[in-house]
Amino acid sequence: MRKPWFDDEKALAAVEARGVDRRDFLKICSTFAAAMGLSQVPFAAGVAQAVEGAAAKPPVIWMEGLDCAGCSISFSGSLNPPAASVLLDSISLRYHEALMAASGHQAEAAFHDTIEAGGHVLIVEGAVPTADPRYCMIGGKSFEENLKAAAEKCAAIICVGACSSFGGVTGSMVCGGVGVSEIIKDKPIIKLSTCPVHPEHLIGTVLYFLATGEVPELDEHGRPVAFFGTNIHDNCRRRGHYDAGRFVTDWNDPAQKDYCLVTKGCKGPMTNSDCPVRLWNDRTNFCIDCGCGCHGCASPTFYEKMSPIFM
Ligand code: SF4
Repeated sequence: MRKPWFDDEKALAAVEARGVDRRDFLKICSTFAAAMGLSQVPFAAGVAQAVEGAAAKPPVIWMEGLDCAGCSISFSGSLNPPAASVLLDSISLRYHEALMAASGHQAEAAFHDTIEAGGHVLIVEGAVPTADPRYCMIGGKSFEENLKAAAEKCAAIICVGACSSFGGVTGSMVCGGVGVSEIIKDKPIIKLSTCPVHPEHLIGTVLYFLATGEVPELDEHGRPVAFFGTNIHDNCRRRGHYDAGRFVTDWNDPAQKDYCLVTKGCKGPMTNSDCPVRLWNDRTNFCIDCGCGCHGCASPTFYEKMSPIFM
């Protein structure tokens, strides 16, 4: 549905002024529109408007619990296309412990003012510590207390990475990390569960939400079907070798270079994600094409149940 305040030319000109080439901008929007099933929405009124045309930019709070900050790095390091900068220009990022300039009382005020006003999108990176409330304590409050306060009036929660989605690596440690959905039960929760988050998964999800005001179709684990609806094994370029029974048994044998890695611990058959198609690092490569078996990082049972990673 076309919004009255949207102007295609103005939107494109504004993005161009930020150094993003018009062709790249249209490519970014088309890619995300197709990936998220937005093709039925008129282009300009859908994704492009979400990127640049909205009069009021939705407030976003980005919290970090038990994590390595890898999702923040993955997201902010997206270079080509400069999707992260396009997205950061289309939302109002009020609070992010690593990226925000403010600190101390100013940062606290930004957090509390935003959650008090409500209607924000809450992005959570990292798991909720359950072993000790002192882990990830900020402003004298435990992470769980801050999370509950931030979730109370939010429009939706986006979990970035395996830790906030399902506990991830921290779930198998003494800190007792659990996914956000173990704590928050009454809000729509979208899980982008690769470790770290794929920048395009995050951007596509936010754009979908901005364009439609709705949560995208999710699978039984709360992950967008558009990104997690296919199995890695089904799209793997080594699949022919798997079917033919050619497996890597010796890392040092050049003849086995492209063989199937299931004998070396590949978790592709039990993992759903579009990694083989979307690729990583600006569409350069992904784990299996590098010669490393899939770790199953997008799976709800990662990390503990995916061990050993290598055999
Ligand atoms: Fe399947 Fe992994 Fe073998 Fe690829 S390398 S065919 S995902 S088992």
